[in-house]
Amino acid sequence: MADRVLAVRGPRSLLRQIREAMAGGGPAQARLDMVVQIIARSMVAEVCSIYLRRASGDLELFATEGLKPEAVHVTRMRPGEGLVSEIVRLGRPLNLTDAPLHPKFSYRPETGEDPFHAFLGVPLLRGGRPVGALVVQNRTARVYGEDEVEDLQTIAMVLAEMVAAGELVGQTELKDVELAPHRPERLKGQRFADGLAFGVAVLHEVPVAPEKLLADDTGLEELRIRAGTEKLRAQIDEMLDGHNLVGQPFDVLETYRMFANDRGWNRSLEEAVRGGLTAEAAVERVRSEQRARLSKARDPYLRERLHDLEDLADRLLRVLAGKEPGARVLPDDAILIARNLGPADLLEYDRTKLRGLLLEEGSQTSHASIVARALGIPCVGRLERLRDRISEGDPVIVDGEQAEAFLRPRGDVISSFRARAEVRAQRHAEFARLKDTLAVTLDGTRITLLMNAGLAVDLDNLAETGAEGIGLFRTEFQFMVADQMPRLKVQTELYARVLEAAGGLPVIFRTLDLGGDKVLPYLKADREENPALGWRAVRMGLDRPALLRMQLRALIQAAAGRELHIMFPLIATVDEFRAARRLVDDEIAWGRRRGRPSPNPLRVGAMIEAPSVVWHLDALLPLTDFVSVGTNDLMQYIFAADRGNPRVSDRYDPLSPPALRALKSIADHGKETGTPVSVCGELAGRPLEAFALMALGFERLSMPPTGIGPVKRMVLSVDLEAAKKGVAGLLQSGSGTVRNEIETLARKLNVAL
Ligand code: PEP
Ligand code: MG
Repeated sequence: MADRVLAVRGPRSLLRQIREAMAGGGPAQARLDMVVQIIARSMVAEVCSIYLRRASGDLELFATEGLKPEAVHVTRMRPGEGLVSEIVRLGRPLNLTDAPLHPKFSYRPETGEDPFHAFLGVPLLRGGRPVGALVVQNRTARVYGEDEVEDLQTIAMVLAEMVAAGELVGQTELKDVELAPHRPERLKGQRFADGLAFGVAVLHEVPVAPEKLLADDTGLEELRIRAGTEKLRAQIDEMLDGHNLVGQPFDVLETYRMFANDRGWNRSLEEAVRGGLTAEAAVERVRSEQRARLSKARDPYLRERLHDLEDLADRLLRVLAGKEPGARVLPDDAILIARNLGPADLLEYDRTKLRGLLLEEGSQTSHASIVARALGIPCVGRLERLRDRISEGDPVIVDGEQAEAFLRPRGDVISSFRARAEVRAQRHAEFARLKDTLAVTLDGTRITLLMNAGLAVDLDNLAETGAEGIGLFRTEFQFMVADQMPRLKVQTELYARVLEAAGGLPVIFRTLDLGGDKVLPYLKADREENPALGWRAVRMGLDRPALLRMQLRALIQAAAGRELHIMFPLIATVDEFRAARRLVDDEIAWGRRRGRPSPNPLRVGAMIEAPSVVWHLDALLPLTDFVSVGTNDLMQYIFAADRGNPRVSDRYDPLSPPALRALKSIADHGKETGTPVSVCGELAGRPLEAFALMALGFERLSMPPTGIGPVKRMVLSVDLEAAKKGVAGLLQSGSGTVRNEIETLARKLNVAL
């Protein structure tokens, strides 16, 4: 019976005793000693110890009742050593009948723990991060009940906060205790949007930290948590029933609904409240446990679930706070930190204050990256365990050039970064001066520099960069950032706005390039083994002509009798192009029958992205009014290397003989047939690659807006004839890549790279 004392009295009485002990004042260590005594007594344990993590990563015994007092601040466990490290590593309790039998048990003679067999340890969690452990031990090989485990976890959570508040550990000690990450860290990720930024971390969807942990009136808190979860369920029901959601948004909400109704979740919350916590602290407590448990999961499905659960906890906290979701107030130089962001999330933040974005997950083509690029916000993604490594308010550098993030950088790193940012700003000023200069090589060849775009926000860049038009307008972006399929009217409005903003400059609208890595939440498509080679781009459009025809209709209406360029992606056979072109003709005829103006002139083109057409250009080009080489896809198919897979995407060099020969063949066929040919893949926006493309004969390059300035500077410095001669010689090389040779050539010719 004796070992049930705590279960009977509950952690509330224990927490009250701890609070009373705190009120007595005295040095921090004395209070900590008192706390372990109180816990040991209440739990009828012979031992109670607290271990805290030092900045070095070691776990140090900070206080004990029952082990030898000499071991305090002497016994230290290195990461991976002993049961305590195991608790911290796993982030969850360890409940053992006979601890010495556990493979991780590490015997420390100085502690005198030989006689103790039963062992219960729980992590001290702060914001889901284990920062130490609280352990009780007994001589007899007993089993600690579930209630006791629960209670000890509740106490551990309160203790973690008290430690952080400096109530249990002296200020000097506190500096060396790893309660929050504080060392400088440099993380390598992937570049999602170019640029440099320095600012302070703002955590996306920071949970409203509970101000009060312990309940004054448990009955009231029980009512609050019950009312809160009920309201949450009602909100979710409303969202599900009120909107005509289909596809992924529906599934996501349905999953929320499932979790919100989950008995286990609700029970854990109520139990935590009954244990003496406020409703808010109970939400945090349950969240911390789930996070610690699920974040270890390797299974992506489980990790995704964690995301849902986190979101649910945030919603519940907002409900409890009586808050409706609203815009956050940002510091002036905010760097947003998130695991991942939904399409609209980024747009909800104040653009004038948002300097950069760091993501733990995401990809080049994820919604957040697309929007970040469109808004000119530097973004680095795929930063491992980012959220665990950073706290709100930490200084952060986003290095979109090198795909790196510096967390809490040292002064010298900040200075060198500032110097780089300065140089970058100067270069930008130089590019801005070149804006109205025509791109002509030293020997007089006019190169047309166009811009890639996809969202209305991109259009400001036309004037800013001096691009001569839009060489690739990725129409699918509008579909990707929307929650539902954009209707004819919405599509027409966007295209009309784009043409308006272009003010007579040409705009090449690429028809929907969906599938592959671009999936729409609301458009159901079968899962494919190999999406890049699957049902995507024009294949989808030809199989679902209604979708494509609606888009063509929107384009034709938007042109309203003006010039219109339409381009089809991933044409793999001449017949596909013929079929696609026929749909355009049908739409024109449909409009004409209704007395609507036809675009004038109308130009219909194809993207060269599938290697198959590289060997059928003689047949394809005469059918088209123009073509554009999508090197992003063409290279992935030439080298059989998935462009979205970081392990292989940079493995092969486009500046290599096979790729350059394929490109040259396209440029040559364009000249022979008099077909305008451009390149619109990312390659065209990098000075060295653009130099090589020009040397192969391409005179029209379309690129991300940030590429225009650097490429124009390069064009102005090129002696094209010499470049052509030099590069031609390299096409026969037997090397895997000729990048170095091309760079040497460019340097020899004094090209501004
Ligand atoms: C390409 O493949 O090179 C291209 C420009 O199209 P996207 O990147 O949109 O596939
Ligand atoms: Mg493509």
